[in-house]
Amino acid sequence: MILPIFLPNAGCKHRCKFCNQFSMTGEKMPSFRDLKNQFEYFKHNLPSEIAFYGGTFTGMSLKKQIEYLGFVRKYFPDIPIRISTRPDEINDEVVKILENYNVKTVELGIQSMYDDVLEASLRGHTVNDNINAIKTLLEKKFIVSAHLMVGLPEDNFQKDFNSLKKLIELDVKFFRIHPTIIFKNTQLEKDFVLGKFKPLEIEDAVDICSEQLILSLAKNVLIIRLGYFVPESQKSQIVAGPYHPSFGDMVKTRAIKKLIEKLKIKKVFYPKKYESWFFAYGNKNLKIERILTESDLMFDSYSLTEASSLYLKI
Ligand code: SF4
Repeated sequence: MILPIFLPNAGCKHRCKFCNQFSMTGEKMPSFRDLKNQFEYFKHNLPSEIAFYGGTFTGMSLKKQIEYLGFVRKYFPDIPIRISTRPDEINDEVVKILENYNVKTVELGIQSMYDDVLEASLRGHTVNDNINAIKTLLEKKFIVSAHLMVGLPEDNFQKDFNSLKKLIELDVKFFRIHPTIIFKNTQLEKDFVLGKFKPLEIEDAVDICSEQLILSLAKNVLIIRLGYFVPESQKSQIVAGPYHPSFGDMVKTRAIKKLIEKLKIKKVFYPKKYESWFFAYGNKNLKIERILTESDLMFDSYSLTEASSLYLKI
């Protein structure tokens, strides 16, 4: 269980085109008193990790970073910490602090491995910053989880697919992938109203992400989240874009459909936990034999990894 602490837009020195953490999460900046109350409760129900989300943790002053990390250490001295930040806010000084305070995982807002996409999205960092941050963090043995967005300004299908491919080549093993959604009070909303930006249709977003998922399965890396979690209270903040509460399931079932159809699979053997992959979102109509099994997931004689690799080669 991860205990999340949201610090909306804390440490962000400017605003990316698509972002407004207050609209997206509905969270407010917590006081140390709020944190104390939260931590007291969890002292008897220890989380496996504490995570600072919602901003650029290492963009805050060093003093502030130490204050937060020290506060966590006081309550949970042995529990690993996870932070989210941007690639251009990783340097030797902050890396030392993160090491000293038991930070094990860094969630990096990469978003794209193309400079024109980063620039058009007002990210304020470059692909080189992405590469340098990843190399620095992996060298220091942090777990790196890269965030990618599909359907950003100047983006396209091939760039989205290649962004994931390039990150896998850099040895990143964990990912979160989100389609670009337009939230209220963002620059992207203004562009959308002026007709300067068109979000992806949900069909296209599912299609792109299903190819990314197949790539991740072929390369044995993990996409830990597909699609935004938008709390019920914030759904009214969505202006447009490919949002669906079960986006991840739609992508998984699409990937399965693609594997079955392209590889002309006749029979699947599936453990119970994968059942929905073969029945939900139209997959019930696939013309295959489905056999419930207690052993591994198989597509005729192929494992999921083998089927995914073969799919990409054909
Ligand atoms: S996307 Fe990340 S870096 Fe950009 S403004 Fe939002 S929280 Fe800050």
